[in-house]
Amino acid sequence: MNYQEMYRSFGIDGEVLAFSEEILNDLKDRFDQIDQMAEINQLKVICAMQENRVSEACFQGSTGYGYNDLGRDTLEKVYAHVFRGEDALVRPQITCGTHALALALMSNLRPGDELLSPVGKPYDTLEEVIGIRKSRGSLREYGITYRQADLNPDGSFRYEDIRGAINERTKLVTIQRSKGYALRPSFSVVKIGELIRFIRSVKPDVIIMVDNCYGEFVEEKEPLEVGADMVVGSLIKNPGGGLSPIGGYIVGKKECVENAACRLTSPGLGREVGASLSANRSFFQGLFLAPTVTAAALKGAVFAANLYEKLGFHVIPDGRETRHDIIQAVELQSPERLIAFCKGIQAAAPVDAYVTPEPWDMPGYDAKVIMAAGAFISGSSIELSADGPLKEPYTVYFQGGLTWPHAKLGILKSLQTMKDEGLIIWK
Ligand SMILES: *Cc1c(COP(=O)(O)O)cnc(C)c1O
Repeated sequence: MNYQEMYRSFGIDGEVLAFSEEILNDLKDRFDQIDQMAEINQLKVICAMQENRVSEACFQGSTGYGYNDLGRDTLEKVYAHVFRGEDALVRPQITCGTHALALALMSNLRPGDELLSPVGKPYDTLEEVIGIRKSRGSLREYGITYRQADLNPDGSFRYEDIRGAINERTKLVTIQRSKGYALRPSFSVVKIGELIRFIRSVKPDVIIMVDNCYGEFVEEKEPLEVGADMVVGSLIKNPGGGLSPIGGYIVGKKECVENAACRLTSPGLGREVGASLSANRSFFQGLFLAPTVTAAALKGAVFAANLYEKLGFHVIPDGRETRHDIIQAVELQSPERLIAFCKGIQAAAPVDAYVTPEPWDMPGYDAKVIMAAGAFISGSSIELSADGPLKEPYTVYFQGGLTWPHAKLGILKSLQTMKDEGLIIWK
């Protein structure tokens, strides 16, 4: 079978394929830049592994208390090196990104302290961690208050509001790198650096944390290199490379990481305990693959942006913008298109391709939500996935793809499904 016949066997017709070729012809330079970034970050990861003497013995796991777990301790040194921190905590006991962020916050704040977000509302799940939405065990229950400075409508920082929000109780500042599912721009590492410099000019000794979810390996630098004290993220996103089955990381100042370790396990025990079970090999191998996996996801995002923009849809970021994370939003303007898009992504998956995603009433949301994912690791969003709430403007959020050909197939299937259902005007 040739190339066209292979795609035809997946239901992709000649028109959709030809249209995609036209788009891809114009993306050669963009893809070259993405490959160059992957190359730099791949070298960075290999260097960190060599300098810390990663060996076969590191892939042995530990059980029970997990004392002297060589793999775990070496992995943490490798993460510290890659992200340019003094120290790191990288554990399967950190269950997800929200847990990693909650851990970093709860361990570095004390009753009476105040937390500040200078970049508007944080990621949804953090609202309950902070206590913006009432919840059991929130920072608020422990007497830790929260303040926020919103962004300007164009996504720029409101410096005077930020200055006004900083006071003698401000102990920790949280900066979310990726827009997540909000409609504001994601911040480049350079922009984060500018914000950090400003905050330090007002209050030099404040702890600055960056929620690094979805941003890892998209750029050459990471936020610790522009003055952050802590970066935090999930191993079932970019740095897990699709292989990590679970986990989160906190990298940064020794003091901050130590606080987190004592909270994750127990005062007095700290980082000395915490068995890695059998996760070490996939953590190392996943980190090794992460730069090229992130590049694959980025190519998918750039391709989707350009394809849907050409068909007249509003896409965020637009086709030409530089990327600071792997999320792509497309405003599809109708519930039928949103559903068709997700069906297409599902139909292209290596796992669970035979199921049809349906909108459902997800807890915590005010509208029905549809989600498509056929993943090897449950809930992994570095794998190709799409979701969106069934409300105006029917925006689909699309991310991931462990390989570029898979991301491409998913996007072609999304378009083909809409075309087959008569939901787009074909030229
Ligand atoms: C995904 C994400 C989180 C939360 O991670 P989970 O693993 O879903 O708990 C937090 N912040 C941002 C910006 C994210 O993208």
